[in-house]
Formats: sequence, structure tokens, C-alpha cells
Amino acid sequence: MPYDPYQALYLHVPFCVSRCLYCDFATRAMPADDPQITRYVEDLVMQIRRAGKQGELAGVETVYVGGGTPSHVGSRHLSQLLYALGLSMHLTPEVECTVECNPESLDERLVRDMWALGANRLSVGVQSFDDRLLRVLGRAHTADEARRAVDAALTRFENVSVDVMCGLPGQSAEDVRASAEEAVRLGVTHVSVYPLTIEDHTPFARMVMRGELVEPDDDVEAEHMEAAAEVLEGAGLHRYEVASYAREGFESRHNTAYWTGKPYLGLGLSAATMTQNATRRMRRQDGQVTDDLNPAQMLAEDLMLGMRMSRGVSDELLARASALLPAARGVFEGLARDGLAVHEGGRWCPTSRGWLCGNELYGRIFDLAT
Ligand code: SF4
Repeated sequence: MPYDPYQALYLHVPFCVSRCLYCDFATRAMPADDPQITRYVEDLVMQIRRAGKQGELAGVETVYVGGGTPSHVGSRHLSQLLYALGLSMHLTPEVECTVECNPESLDERLVRDMWALGANRLSVGVQSFDDRLLRVLGRAHTADEARRAVDAALTRFENVSVDVMCGLPGQSAEDVRASAEEAVRLGVTHVSVYPLTIEDHTPFARMVMRGELVEPDDDVEAEHMEAAAEVLEGAGLHRYEVASYAREGFESRHNTAYWTGKPYLGLGLSAATMTQNATRRMRRQDGQVTDDLNPAQMLAEDLMLGMRMSRGVSDELLARASALLPAARGVFEGLARDGLAVHEGGRWCPTSRGWLCGNELYGRIFDLAT
């Protein structure tokens, strides 16, 4: 049986100016003029052109150029990628095309070039507007550079997102609140708030082992998430996913594709690809199959991903899932009884308590197909 067409495209640019202390992403620190970057971008251009020729990009509705730090590779390289996209698919204004940028490498010229070549959304990795916390994280930029970068982004782009981290060592709920307020003040249309996790083989993991760093505490993290929610929702950015806030109409369509089981193609080092049809969903990364789901497992995943989003899961999806997962309805009724979900208007939606107790919420749904 053939696979459904890809609806989302991810391009991975695995280079950064330096490595942050918490990062375990597939990325390397190197100067922007290193010939390896030029070779990598040329290869990625070939992959884009090939995918276009094979018809794999015909149904793509969202593009995300992520990293690493795509802005680090500079205008010439990013222009090559965007130009190749323009030649290989219908990069119309209706296609959401996001480029991930970091403050130290985003200036007005780069903003103008990306805009001219069809990008229409920028995601700026701010993490905090507090210099002390940026130093703790080992970020390569200051709070002032972050403000300047967001201002530069807004000179052309209406659709600008920033990332803000919480649960950081020495961070208070007041600090989280201040960064969220600053993002609102600058006028961004989307904010992602995510807690620090200590990943294996990172400098932070080694510091935890040596007793120099305390692991983030769940209650503190929850308090920080609540502080951010209060500020952002108070300013009119609605929480449409557990970690994502947007002004109406500026929700990330690319991320929503991931959360609603749409097939996506990943090009570049360590980029994940998801292919599916009615009987199978597969994820591959670096030539390895990382997931191979049967229809029951696919439905359990759809239910779980659905509960990441405020719109939750429709009665219709739950009914479809129940045909293969007979315990599904009972699990959702249990979630509602325990205050982790509510059932209203034909949908099952997570409550804020459900999001705070995410492990419990997603765990019970995940167990349906195991
Ligand atoms: S900028 Fe992002 S990808 Fe690069 S090292 Fe820092 S966290 Fe990792």
C-alpha cells in the first residue's frame, strides 16, 4: 500500500557558534565560514531538489528550517536553501515557512533576505531575558542582543515566536514572569515555554553528577509554567498546546502537524521522517527505523498527541480508537473522573491539572496499546 503524501518538511542545519551547557541536540560548534558548512548546505540543496523532482514535496504545507542554529550559517547559505525550496515546491504565502534563529546571529539584513526568499515565520531562541540565567545556560548571547534580534525580526515578519525556558538553576517564578512579560512587550505573536531537562552526556549532566548542580524540581517547574501561563494568557496569547501560546491565527501549523499525526519528511543530518498509510506509521532517523506502529498503536499515539493540545480529542476519534482499543473510552472517563480531562462540546480536553500531571495523563493513554 502506498504511503500518504508528506504534509510537512523539516530541514536540519546542525551548526552553532558554541554549545550550550544543557544541549544534547545533533549539532556541532564551528565558525560560520567553515567549509564544512558550505559542503553540508550544498548537499542539503541537492536533497531538496531531489525530493522535489520525486514529487515528495507536492503536498507540503509547512516548512521548518531548524537546528542547531540556522541563522548561524548566514545569509548566503540560508538563501541557497530557501531558493532551492522555491524551485522545488510551491513556496506560496499560504505555506508556513519558519526559520529558527538565535539572537547572536540575527540582524536586519538576514531578516530582509529570508523574508524576500519566502520565509514567513521566525522562531528566535531567546530562552531568557536575564543575563545571569543566560550565562548559567552557556548561551552565546545577552539579553540585550535577544531584544535587538526580536526587534529586527519584527521589522519584516508579523509571525515571530520566542522560546522561554523555566526550571533553571537559580531561577524564580518572578524571573519566568519577567521574561514572559518582556516577550509580550516586544510584540511577538507566539511563545513556547519549556522546562529544562538534564540530558545524558551534557555538561549539565556531569555537573549534576559532581553535585555542582541540582536537578530541576517538578513542583518548581510547575510553578514556573503556571507563572508563564498567567502572564501570557493575561496578555491575550492563548495556550493551544501544553508548552505553546499564540495570538489567534498564529499557532504553529508545523508543530500542529506533528501533534495531529501528519506525515513529514526530514532532510539533513539526524532529521526524522514519518511515513504512514492506513495500516502503518514509521519513523526513521539516520537510516534506522525508530518507530513502527500498527493501527492500534497509531490510534493510541493520536489520542496521546491530541491531549497535548487544548482542543484535545473529538468524540469521533475516540469512537474510532475504541474499535481497536476497547479500553479507550474507560480510560478517558477515568481521566475525567480524576480531573485530568473534561468532556464538553463533543471533545475530551486536558485540564491544567492534566497538563501539570502530564506523565499520568499521557501514560494512561500510552498503556492502551502496550
Ligand atoms: S543554540 Fe540550540 S542547538 Fe545550539 S547548542 Fe545551544 S541549545 Fe543546542
